Amino acid sequence: MPIRLRLLVFATFACFSAHSFAGKKPNIVFIFSDDHATQAISAYGGPLAEIAPTPNLDRIANEGMLFTRCMVTNSICGPSRATILTGKYSHKNGFFTNEATVFKGSQQTFPKLLRRVGYETALIGKWHLGGKPTGFDHWEVLPGQGSYYNPDFINEKEKYRVTGYVSEILTEKAKKWLSHQRDKDKPFMLMLQHKAPHRAWDPAPKYLNLFDDITIPEPDTLFDDYSGRGKAARDQDMSIEKTMTMGRDLKVKEFDDTGDFVTRGYGRLNSEQAALWDAAYQPKNDALVAAKLTGKELVQWKYQRYLKDYLRCVKSVDDSVGEMLAFLEEKGLAENTIFIYSSDQGFYLGEHGWFDKRFMFDESYRTPLMIKWPGNVAPGSRSDELVSNLDFAETFLELAGAPIPKDMQGKSLVPILKGKTPEDWRESHYYHYYEYPGWHMVHRHEGVYDGRYKLMNFYELKEMELYDLETDPQEMVNQFANPEYAEIVVRLEGELKTLREQYQLPVNKVQDLTDLDMRFHSDSIRERGLERMKKAAELKARKEGGK
Ligand code: CA
Repeated sequence: MPIRLRLLVFATFACFSAHSFAGKKPNIVFIFSDDHATQAISAYGGPLAEIAPTPNLDRIANEGMLFTRCMVTNSICGPSRATILTGKYSHKNGFFTNEATVFKGSQQTFPKLLRRVGYETALIGKWHLGGKPTGFDHWEVLPGQGSYYNPDFINEKEKYRVTGYVSEILTEKAKKWLSHQRDKDKPFMLMLQHKAPHRAWDPAPKYLNLFDDITIPEPDTLFDDYSGRGKAARDQDMSIEKTMTMGRDLKVKEFDDTGDFVTRGYGRLNSEQAALWDAAYQPKNDALVAAKLTGKELVQWKYQRYLKDYLRCVKSVDDSVGEMLAFLEEKGLAENTIFIYSSDQGFYLGEHGWFDKRFMFDESYRTPLMIKWPGNVAPGSRSDELVSNLDFAETFLELAGAPIPKDMQGKSLVPILKGKTPEDWRESHYYHYYEYPGWHMVHRHEGVYDGRYKLMNFYELKEMELYDLETDPQEMVNQFANPEYAEIVVRLEGELKTLREQYQLPVNKVQDLTDLDMRFHSDSIRERGLERMKKAAELKARKEGGK
């Protein structure tokens, strides 16, 4: 009997004897963060692993499976979340960009399908899809981007504020739901979605001085000049040097040129929290003001401040994971709970001189994925298969014994978790980023990656880029025009066309992709984007004129 049919039979039978089967369906805890790069998880190795270890996150890998190639469909917050909920690409779920878009809550999502097979579902934390969440028995979310300090929450009934640090509050809320608020006769699926370590990287008060005494190693490409790449890498507005603000981002109020320092961050602190903040930052800021750094030295200073704050935020996420693992053990739930960690995308930690995401380059295209499933996943296992956030919904459904709808576009990871990769597993992955013009000015592009070669199509620029990640893991040399790669280009261009057809992109000619904008974005979104572009250009000119 095919596995899907077997599961269907099981699910049907379970409906008739829900009580006796309730204990046998696995629970799912999905801990999800925002902008957490694999470079900042020690289980993934790399130069930060010893300096900023993440022992609790590493436990998931040590007791379960770590995926080295989990690629996102569209490297930006809202669209990634929409893909996870629906198991579909942006052009199918309708959520292309973060700007002025509301997720269509009436569409099919995996939490709704889990409820149909008897699961209780909860969402706690960052939602970032506009409107109210649907498909959850319980939800408490941060409005919009949420706040690190004394955050506001919204639920079905009200909006209210909680004193404290967001990552700690979310963990407490998750434990409270598991202990007191759920129906204990049902299996559960909990999505605990952190705000951290999103910009502007505000650490927990208790970690404000963590890493004070160390120097974070700089990436080789911190001073990348983008020669060897196309126009898109030069046009972006996401560099530590030019884009990162001294005030809000780097917490030097003396140099705040945006006014955001007080209105968005510092201003939320109560007097006790502000005293801790001042004690941590002010002496270092005074030293910076006195040093009068410029040029390369100032970029190096900014990099240190940025990375330390980012890693301090990661530390709180790691603590949350540790607390949740311990809590499940304490409550006797660990054995029958599948525990998953991922992020909405990766992030640049100074590579190419950048922060932020959006590009199909490795640091932001790859996202962490680690899954612990006691008795089913071999402890300490790794998978190098090409998997995706497109596969999460299908995986959750199979784990719960629910049928996977045919219109979902990913594949369940359950066979891989059990150590048997299907013979027809994907050999290439399709990517598409749409938010241009907009924040950080990364040009629209699509692309295909086969685990070694990556072809990117910046269709509005009419530029193609090809990278060989085996010989050039930092993606510094565009090989598209190199005759030695001609056959690979032809193969990947064919693959790109096949994937557009497979995933039913509404157009399949490169020149038509530039028209996607008019089909998928309303005029108001386009206008907002153009307005942003104008403002970004003005700000850039002001900064450059002021030097
Ligand atoms: Ca994000």
